Amino acid sequence: MSYPTEDLTHHQCARSESWWARDAQGIELCRVCPECEEAKLSRYRPEILSGYSQADVDEPIEPEPTCYPYDFGL
Ligand SMILES: [Zn+2]
Repeated sequence: MSYPTEDLTHHQCARSESWWARDAQGIELCRVCPECEEAKLSRYRPEILSGYSQADVDEPIEPEPTCYPYDFGL
C-alpha cells in the first residue's frame, strides 16, 4: 500500500506507534508516527518546532568598547 504524500497529513496513526509532536514550548501539535511525522511537521514553520534558531539564542553579548580607533595616535 502506498499513499500520496498529502494523505499522510491526515494519517490515522497507530496508537502504539505514535506520539504527540510538540512545538518548542511543549504544546501538542498533532499525533505523529514514523510514517507521517515528516509530512505533518512539514506544515509547521521550523521555528515553531525548535524555537528560535541557535544563532538568536547564543548571540554573544558584545562588551561595550572601551576605546575607539580615534583614541589612538591623538
Ligand atoms: Zn501517522
